[in-house]
Amino acid sequence: MRVHDRGRLSVVGAGGVGLSVAWRAACAGWRVRLHDPLPARGASWVAGGMLAPLTEGWPGEEDALVLNTDSLHRWPDFAAALSAGAGTDAGLGAAGTLVVGLDSADVGELAVLAEWLAARGRTVTELGRRELRERVPALAQGIRRGLDVPGDLAVDNRALLAALQAACLAAGVELVHEAVTDLAALPADQVVLAAGAGSPALVPSLPVRAVKGEILRLRHRRSVLPAPGCTVRGVVHGRHVYLVPRSDGIVVGATQHEVGEDRDVTVGGVRDLIADAEAVLPSIAEYELTEAIAGLRPMTPDNLPLIGRLDERTVAATGHGRNGLLLLPLTADAVLAELDGSPLPEAAPAHPRRFS
Ligand SMILES: Cc1cc2nc3c(=O)[nH]c(=O)nc-3n(C[C@H](O)[C@H](O)[C@H](O)COP(=O)(O)OP(=O)(O)OC[C@H]3O[C@@H](n4cnc5c(N)ncnc54)[C@H](O)[C@@H]3O)c2cc1C
Repeated sequence: MRVHDRGRLSVVGAGGVGLSVAWRAACAGWRVRLHDPLPARGASWVAGGMLAPLTEGWPGEEDALVLNTDSLHRWPDFAAALSAGAGTDAGLGAAGTLVVGLDSADVGELAVLAEWLAARGRTVTELGRRELRERVPALAQGIRRGLDVPGDLAVDNRALLAALQAACLAAGVELVHEAVTDLAALPADQVVLAAGAGSPALVPSLPVRAVKGEILRLRHRRSVLPAPGCTVRGVVHGRHVYLVPRSDGIVVGATQHEVGEDRDVTVGGVRDLIADAEAVLPSIAEYELTEAIAGLRPMTPDNLPLIGRLDERTVAATGHGRNGLLLLPLTADAVLAELDGSPLPEAAPAHPRRFS
């Protein structure tokens, strides 16, 4: 039931960001139209689903650490409200993350991350060979050192998108299956631009570029060692790989290529992902490869999203880069606050006009 009518809101883009904003806005009393020719099949569909402010962190990215951690703290309430609104589970898991390094340079990289996080009061514990195998018995024999990062979680991105779509429907959001070509032509009082990598086509001044990522989905087969109980990230001779457990197997990601609007999955990309994942967890060789897919991360020059007002009728919610799913709760809260005329101070570092 609506609190009171706040007016007409058009949300452009029905990925994780647009769906979250549309759902929350409809619950707050906006009459919401959500525009997308192909809803929930962009980067949010492709993603691995890690909610990982700590293991995605790196010296120099202090603002991102703060923003990402803030959003992670909002995730449990966001997921609970979404599950209730959708009548289906939002897909949030409670298991943490292990990070392992293969050679001595890889282990050195973990040490840099651990030191940087510890200096910022974040909890990470160094683990040796025996402790690592107690946590994940199937780890490759050569792995000797790792980090336990209990605070970094994961979500099943496709369960999440199904829940968001159901919650939008239940809240009365009207889905318009069309691409928007001109924001000014939308019959709305307010517009939220949430078109991911497609955003600069509508507002060319936005510093968003597409960064391709390839990812694999593996299905567990009978008599094969089960998937780990938590996310396992590996640094394998300088390359990064992650293995995120799902109810039926493992998601292995992800490559990163600055090649513009290219969504082709390459042989080299699949080869590297399988080789690196196998170096961490040899048993994946016995899994079924069910999907290889690529998506476009909407990246910005400083790896922070663009959330905030562009003009008196338009709010940006885009540029979420590698951490768009992690940032959904904060983004939805920030956009709702902006529409209410009282911007969220926590989102200030993500203001879309910070580069000009
Ligand atoms: C391989 C890979 C792995 C990733 N792993 C993770 C991870 O583990 N954790 C994490 O937090 N993030 C991850 N990400 C990043 C995350 O997926 C993105 O940041 C996030 O999905 C962005 O959400 P979005 O809604 O802005 O974009 P999208 O999900 O891409 O949605 C944008 C939507 O806008 C629509 N659209 C575009 N142009 C128009 C238009 N003109 N009119 C109407 N609609 C339009 C598109 O059709 C699309 O549906 C990953 C990304 C990739 C590619």
